[in-house]
Amino acid sequence: MLAITTILFGLFGLAVGSFLNLCIDRLPQGKSIVRPGSHCDSCNQSLKAIDLVPVFSYLWLRGRCRYCGARIPLRSPIVEFATAAIFAFLAWHYGLSLELAFAVVYAGIFIVIFAIDLEQELILNVVVFPAMILAFAFSFFWGGFEEFWPKSGPGFVLSALMGGAVGFVLMLLPYALTRGRGMGYGDVKLAAFIGLMSGFPLVIVALLVGIVVGGLVAVFLLLSRMVKSRKAAIPYGPFLAVGAMVALIWGDKIFHWWWSMGAQ
Ligand SMILES: [Zn+2]
Repeated sequence: MLAITTILFGLFGLAVGSFLNLCIDRLPQGKSIVRPGSHCDSCNQSLKAIDLVPVFSYLWLRGRCRYCGARIPLRSPIVEFATAAIFAFLAWHYGLSLELAFAVVYAGIFIVIFAIDLEQELILNVVVFPAMILAFAFSFFWGGFEEFWPKSGPGFVLSALMGGAVGFVLMLLPYALTRGRGMGYGDVKLAAFIGLMSGFPLVIVALLVGIVVGGLVAVFLLLSRMVKSRKAAIPYGPFLAVGAMVALIWGDKIFHWWWSMGAQ
């Protein structure tokens, strides 16, 4: 049963990944994600079902539009494949459950945030504000950390609100100290969303994992000379998104591990 759920969610992820690509293309331009239907940005030809099979169409057409030959960005199949892999993993991890439903919604949001921030160095209000409302609504049904809070709805809501406030303040400090040169205000809003999602104290796990992963990648990029100077801006959003997903899935385990380290 778990194997079937995993495979089905992998396939579902392929289809969702295709829609996420559309969001990543259109949201930064302020375009509708509903209309018009999928079309080639170069020749405006509307695409048929056969042109829109996730990953496979890209491989079959060798990364070019069937009608005009314009290049399709490599990001398209990568997002489709990554969404499928993450959805399959989440299905395997949670099993068929309410948690799984919440987790795939969060994963979709974070994939969009990750890709748009990487490509445009933007964290869009049109993504992050609805995400905050969603996380607040979800907190009535699901909270990440049971030890600190009563296991009922109100406890989780309180946890979410405190997580959101802590995330906002923790990122507002470096933003204010660097006068916005170190990180953008978008990162502050993103941290508030991540806090609402993960609650307190797991928001700290999420932000720390994000900052550590970001630091490791920055060091790697500097050592491998892929970026020239330390002044080159590296967007924080993608790392915060990764940290948030890690905290969502393993946050309580990581927190307990820290706790036991501190107790020794
Ligand atoms: Zn075309």
